Amino acid sequence: MAELNDWRHRRSVRARARAAELAAAYGHLEASDLLRVMIEDEFAGDIAIASSFGAEAVALLALAAEIDPAVPVIFLDTGKLFPETVAYRDTVAEHLGLTNVRIARPDILEVAAADTPGDLWQKQPDACCFVRKVVPLVQAVTPYGAWITGRKRYQGGLRDALKPIEASDGWVKINPLATWTKQDVFGLIARRGLPRHPLLAQGYLSIGCAPCTRPVEALEDERDGRWAGTGKVECGIHTLESPPEPPAREAAPVAPSR
Ligand code: SF4
Repeated sequence: MAELNDWRHRRSVRARARAAELAAAYGHLEASDLLRVMIEDEFAGDIAIASSFGAEAVALLALAAEIDPAVPVIFLDTGKLFPETVAYRDTVAEHLGLTNVRIARPDILEVAAADTPGDLWQKQPDACCFVRKVVPLVQAVTPYGAWITGRKRYQGGLRDALKPIEASDGWVKINPLATWTKQDVFGLIARRGLPRHPLLAQGYLSIGCAPCTRPVEALEDERDGRWAGTGKVECGIHTLESPPEPPAREAAPVAPSR
């Protein structure tokens, strides 16, 4: 255990140092240029995008596809997603020509042990997110030197001071849209005629697992529809202090269904 803690500490120190170097060199770049430098130079062949294929995800994916349509895109299928999200993943991949969308899933035996009735989300949402989201995503990103997220400051909560380049939980994370506004995101989607998530039209502005997501009302923030009434604001993927140390597991590539 002491060795594991040592290793985690060293990894965390390394990530902080690398993130600081990168921020000094590239922190001023706009989203597309930052993505290009990270995908083509700094982490060539060693970086992945984690995407929920949610309401706004297509904006980041469109910028990335222009640079390299074969960049790995990790899609976490928790087993509790809206079917519309799974279908939208394929629509977006086909529209943008993404050729390396990979599906990460929770371990079937771990889910069976923790959540056989399938209602852990109701009783212990943090535990449910841990087994269905945190562990499989950590496994999927472990082979990469850095990963890219679509988080934005305007999403509020723990994201309101988000940096474009950060060290978090022992990783370098690149957040190219950190300083974008909602108008920036939907302006790009409109200008490029990108496909929209089908649930957007029903008032779902932030889209996660079906049992934990509801549409938002006119005066609510977009993430008010996530885990509503529970006090929970993040799944835990971006708030780990000591990430679990499962064996690295490659997410399986998926071909868009037609
Ligand atoms: S969002 Fe809800 S259903 Fe999905 S993993 Fe978390 S608690 Fe479980």
